[in-house]
Amino acid sequence: MKIDSATGLLTGARQVLSPHCDARPAGMALELLVVHGISLPPGEFGGPWIDRLFTGTLPPDAHPFFRDLAGSRLSAHALIRRDGQIVQYVPFGERAWHAGISQYRGRAQCNDFSIGVELEGTGDTPYTDAQYQGLAALAAALLATYDSLSAEHIVGHSDIAPGRKDDPWPTFDWPRFRALLKERYVPLARS
Ligand SMILES: [Zn+2]
Repeated sequence: MKIDSATGLLTGARQVLSPHCDARPAGMALELLVVHGISLPPGEFGGPWIDRLFTGTLPPDAHPFFRDLAGSRLSAHALIRRDGQIVQYVPFGERAWHAGISQYRGRAQCNDFSIGVELEGTGDTPYTDAQYQGLAALAAALLATYDSLSAEHIVGHSDIAPGRKDDPWPTFDWPRFRALLKERYVPLARS
């Protein structure tokens, strides 16, 4: 898995570019990777609705749950579907609108300095092996591309917006992910 650092695009990913993004503040380094969970409508997998939400084309009448959500200007940099397929919505150098009101180690507005990756999932279904493999490969590619990222600064949405957000839920197995990432990414010694 490779990222073109000039464009911020992931080679081989399906690109569905979202209008819900803008430039990061000038000189802002990428320092945090945020893992999210999402399903639309909640509990259903495989539909077109996450693409539609992030591109601002969710039809409000297609499902009762969509009524309040349609019109939301949300996005993430990427989504990993149940089968491991990766969809990219926002180039990694741009600011995606995934974290909302958030704080990491005293710094607010995590969107400014983070990358947001969604896993298609719920709070009561285990994530798939393909998703763990895909996330570990993507995280390794991000760490290899952006020096300012670090394996120690990977968190869940619930960690930066506690009480407001609880994804990627306890169904996300952090030790399993961290072990896979360790296999795939060995940081070069920096002097
Ligand atoms: Zn989230």
